[in-house]
Amino acid sequence: MSSLILDMREADPKFKYRVKAIPGAEKLTVCFQCGACTPDCPVAKRVDIFRPRRIVRLALFGFKKRLFSDNLLWLCLGCFGCTEMCPQGVKPTELIEALREIGAEEGILPPSIKDMMKALLSTGRIHRITKARERTRTKMGLPALEEPNMEELEIVFASSGLAELVSGKEEK
Ligand code: SF4
Ligand code: SF4
Repeated sequence: MSSLILDMREADPKFKYRVKAIPGAEKLTVCFQCGACTPDCPVAKRVDIFRPRRIVRLALFGFKKRLFSDNLLWLCLGCFGCTEMCPQGVKPTELIEALREIGAEEGILPPSIKDMMKALLSTGRIHRITKARERTRTKMGLPALEEPNMEELEIVFASSGLAELVSGKEEK
């Protein structure tokens, strides 16, 4: 396991309050760092820098630079394994989602996620559906995909600020 040396001068003691204000992340400060969330995390088993317990600790102390580096937060699969194991009800899965939200607000998004968002804005889908994919679907007996209703999606995009997130801010 990689060690993590942190410099307290980089900590932002107020950051935890911003995180806790997001629904799902309210219990951040009751984490007692037992580590029960980490051994069964499928990502932690394969990626040395990824540990749910560590992410919770970084959020608690406000090490924003570390949290938003290496696309760390975007490695989580959202499987909820950590959330089931936590004896304190911290819900690390939802905490990570909250941290992603803060990252997005600050324009910190991995290029691959931005590409998906751009595709969604222009086509209504996050992946391009090629003719080859359509043929594969037919071969597998799957029904033809309906065209996305862009009119309805535009309303969602406008109210969520998606376009602004994708184009309006660059990574800080
Ligand atoms: S299991 Fe819960 S209390 Fe224990 S380290 Fe993980 S988030 Fe904190
Ligand atoms: S939800 Fe994310 S952090 Fe939690 S166990 Fe699954 S992959 Fe790991």
